[in-house]
Amino acid sequence: MEKYKDYSYEQTLMIPVSFEKQILPGTFEYTLCHLIDHQIDLSIFANRYENDYTGAPAYDPAILLKIILYAYSKGINSSRKIAHLCNENIVCMALAADTRPHFTTIADFISTRHAECAELFTMIISVCYTQGLIGKNMFAIDGCKISSNCSKEWSGTKAELLAKTKKIERSVNYLVAKHKSTDRSWDDQKQREKEEKAIKKLKAQSDKIFDFLESNVERMGSQKKPIKSNIIDNESAKMSTGHGVLQGYNGIAAVDDKNQLIVWAEAFGDINESGHLPEILEGIDKTCKKANIDDDIYETVTITADTGFHNKKNMDLIHDKKIDAYIPDNQFRKRNVTFQDAGKYKKKVQNWKPEKGKHYFSPEDFFMDTVTNKLICPAGHPMWLKSPNFKSSDGRYVGQSYQGYIHLCKDCALRSKCIRKKSTKSRQVAILKEVPDGKGNNPVEVMKNKIDTPYGRSVYSKRMSTVEPVFGHIAVIKKLNRFTLRGKQKVNTQWLLYCMVHNIGKIKIECV
Ligand code: SF4
Repeated sequence: MEKYKDYSYEQTLMIPVSFEKQILPGTFEYTLCHLIDHQIDLSIFANRYENDYTGAPAYDPAILLKIILYAYSKGINSSRKIAHLCNENIVCMALAADTRPHFTTIADFISTRHAECAELFTMIISVCYTQGLIGKNMFAIDGCKISSNCSKEWSGTKAELLAKTKKIERSVNYLVAKHKSTDRSWDDQKQREKEEKAIKKLKAQSDKIFDFLESNVERMGSQKKPIKSNIIDNESAKMSTGHGVLQGYNGIAAVDDKNQLIVWAEAFGDINESGHLPEILEGIDKTCKKANIDDDIYETVTITADTGFHNKKNMDLIHDKKIDAYIPDNQFRKRNVTFQDAGKYKKKVQNWKPEKGKHYFSPEDFFMDTVTNKLICPAGHPMWLKSPNFKSSDGRYVGQSYQGYIHLCKDCALRSKCIRKKSTKSRQVAILKEVPDGKGNNPVEVMKNKIDTPYGRSVYSKRMSTVEPVFGHIAVIKKLNRFTLRGKQKVNTQWLLYCMVHNIGKIKIECV
């Protein structure tokens, strides 16, 4: 016979709870409370409240901040779930001092306190700096694409959205025609109700698109061509990522290499992060001034960013601002002798094809062998140096011109992809560089020369290990895989709050 211990659900137990004792030293919540209660000036939130004579007392911003940042640190970013946490999680109850704010209060706080959250972010950076967590050696800039609170199915240019409404109308017409034809002989009432519901839904969708098109002008891209709008969150963008296409925002951050602290952050509804470099550099400068880190941060710090940020405009900007930056072009691995044997960068000459959209090989399809110093053609043959000081007819470019050997080009299997005219005996290629502009060196060439040095490569090699783990931490550990708010300003506030959570986590590890 089995024998179990006695138990009864019909009993009462009194457990005394001291809220203070729930916040244990060494934990995230302890650091959070310490920061908010002793080191952060929360008077910035006071201007919003005018209820000293009339109106109900408001929830203290300190309480709301504590529970929101604590919930974010646990990967919970739904206002309803945060409110729920205040009812059942003892740490959250202790942080809220058992005040239990409603979820609308929490949602309103996050979506309306954008200016205050930006200031709060700077204050936390300032605390990090005073505690020696910021090294001011290298800031790595990068972007992390995160889904927005809308579906990519509702994206399109004006023409695409109109085509979508026509498709919806066709579906509605089909269902209405079906109804008419079976009006009298209808026997499945459930199916009929289902289809009536579908007609209603399709009509509502069509009206929604028409309303959007009437009240919004078409979005134009940097090339002055129409780009996709989204009828739910028109400030987000359709972006392609390594994991497929998503509708979302690009959360950009600048990360200090000493302790991987985020020193500046902003979310943009734009896939083209390189176009935001001027704002990013200005933002870093302003934040560092406000946080008393440095009056001229670019005197001490080095900036690194990936190849996506490399273009002539950005290189000119960096050159003009005299910033020590390492931003390589997309060919820099090919020039690096370390990678000359790496399969990814060593072209398999027999499989070479002209670049997508081109019928003939362009100079980029020819490979400069830095060991033998010879230009190798797509068929794998070396070419002879025809002119070491070649100059383009407009004088803007200088370089070397190379020519293929006639006997090799004559019977080459790739000839039809390489030489346009039958009468041409062998292929000629010029490898050119832009001529310096007279004011100094050409910034693009200066950057290439900087990156190609062993020191440049070693500085740039730290970029990935500095910024990518931060995005991994926010997106995977803190579970920010979708913004819950809509509109750039609100999304930016949520992005800043997550970046604050990341930084506060560092304070706990390093200092408390
Ligand atoms: S045509 Fe001449 S240069 Fe072109 S791939 Fe063939 S051998 Fe090389």
